[in-house]
Amino acid sequence: MSVSRQKVRIVTTIMVVLSFAAIAVAQAGGNAPELQPTGKGWGERVEHAAKPTGGATTNGIVYHGGPVMTGTGNHIYFIWYGNWSGNTATTILTDLASKIGGSPYFNINTTYYDGSNTHVSNAVAYAGNTTDNYSLGKSLTDANIQSIVASAITSGRLPLDSHAVYFVLTSSDVTASSGFCTQYCGWHTNGTISGTDIKYSFVGNPDRCPSACEDQTTSPNGNAGADGMASIIAHELEEATTDPDLNAWYDRRGQENADKCAWTFGTTYAASNGSLANMKLGTRDFLIQRNWVNANGGFCALSW
Ligand SMILES: [Zn+2]
Repeated sequence: MSVSRQKVRIVTTIMVVLSFAAIAVAQAGGNAPELQPTGKGWGERVEHAAKPTGGATTNGIVYHGGPVMTGTGNHIYFIWYGNWSGNTATTILTDLASKIGGSPYFNINTTYYDGSNTHVSNAVAYAGNTTDNYSLGKSLTDANIQSIVASAITSGRLPLDSHAVYFVLTSSDVTASSGFCTQYCGWHTNGTISGTDIKYSFVGNPDRCPSACEDQTTSPNGNAGADGMASIIAHELEEATTDPDLNAWYDRRGQENADKCAWTFGTTYAASNGSLANMKLGTRDFLIQRNWVNANGGFCALSW
């Protein structure tokens, strides 16, 4: 969604029902209110939603005039919050972040562009990480999560970088009080930190709620929590890339590119341990949700 909180599957199911209702309304009235990303994973009705610029799209997703993350200098930072000692997630997800840029999968985002018709580049680089030893406890509010990012930056543990997405990755004993595991598995938004527009994302360890936020309990890299996070991180990264300030690319229901394909995986194959995978990034197999291609009428895909 536009603020793109990645919904858990139950919510997704409800959303599908609501979506059909919304479509019915649109067809009947022809002028259904536009939904805008809220950061809560739901589109909410707004009285004066931004009017789509650039005319109608035929690809099922609309540009609303805001910036997208163009250029080849975009970065990913990880903040490992809580206790990650001895957890292979730190290497699995660092490998993901190091290899997703330049992949056929991330190339889907190059079908998105800004008001100058500058397209997203198939480039994003992993640029560093820090840790946070429960500085704000084990139940984090949305404001806490921005504070965790701000602290990492202002303390100098991570650079101040407007061309980046900072991921707050919480261990399985930590929750996010606005709805982790019940309303969403992750989300992204932006905020002003040290006078700079900073894009950041929350992704919790779905070992806390496997039935809601994990694809499978036996996973390609032998760590179901980390492999579940890989798909959610990819989701939030591509939304932050194409809708960093929640005013660029989303559809009339408030769904951003990855929302439109959430929990769909396309063609899968069996990894060596028998789990499902659908792509190789570097030397690792992953099962990562599809993303919406903004071309040829629009469709979910694993590559472009
Ligand atoms: Zn989303």
